[in-house]
Amino acid sequence: MSLYLHNYALSGKPAAIIAQIPCLQDNYGFLIHDVANGKTAAIDTPDAEAINKALSAQGWSLDVIFNTHWHGDHTGGNQVLKDQWGCRIIGPGGERMAIPACDQTIGEGETIALGRLQAKVIETPGHTAGHIVYHFADIAVAFVGDTLFSLGCGRLFEGSAEEMWHSLEKLRALPDNTDIFCAHEYSKANADYALSVDPENRALIERAQQIAELRASHKPTIPSPLGLEKKTNPFLRADSDDMMARLGMQKATPAQVFAHLRQGKDNF
Ligand code: ZN
Ligand code: FE
Repeated sequence: MSLYLHNYALSGKPAAIIAQIPCLQDNYGFLIHDVANGKTAAIDTPDAEAINKALSAQGWSLDVIFNTHWHGDHTGGNQVLKDQWGCRIIGPGGERMAIPACDQTIGEGETIALGRLQAKVIETPGHTAGHIVYHFADIAVAFVGDTLFSLGCGRLFEGSAEEMWHSLEKLRALPDNTDIFCAHEYSKANADYALSVDPENRALIERAQQIAELRASHKPTIPSPLGLEKKTNPFLRADSDDMMARLGMQKATPAQVFAHLRQGKDNF
């Protein structure tokens, strides 16, 4: 089993370990472990078996599950893990009925503690109507589910382009040093599309090259720092003058440009 570990410190002391677990076709499961108190949360449950393997490899037990949205590749392991660990399950307020074994819901601006770590919830409707993001500001980490991907964004299954654009604007407002942990390894396909709409963007060309190299050696391209996404992700650049000019949409609203880009990706 491949497992990638990321260490985060607070005022020079180890504070959190994030375990990144490739599973299913192209999903990532994540565990976040509070070093001070030994508490562990799973961010979504794509594959209970893969999550259990990672827990035992690290010697951690599972205290809580934070779900981003109801899709099966994010909640499919909820019941099995709860039966086994007795963990609490927290999910978005708008999707309670669709989240298996959900104990508690949470919404915009609310915070939830994991030991000494704190996550603030950002509602990001668009991919699903109730999708939420967990932002650990102290360690500059955001678990963005299927809202934002490296060089891409989630498909609009339950929301309008307008809603999704506003959700992306909220994420774009986070600090540049925020590590974006998204739930799928879609970067290679996203890079191909991004280059087709933004071919002269130097930062994008470099990032696409880096992604190709990482994927050629089967390494993850995630996490991606938000500052890099702001420069390279076409969906975060829908309101930039050069993107609007290239698309001949100088008079359009950013949401309209975003809608055009999203539709282009759907048909790419
Ligand atoms: Zn999804
Ligand atoms: Fe998904």
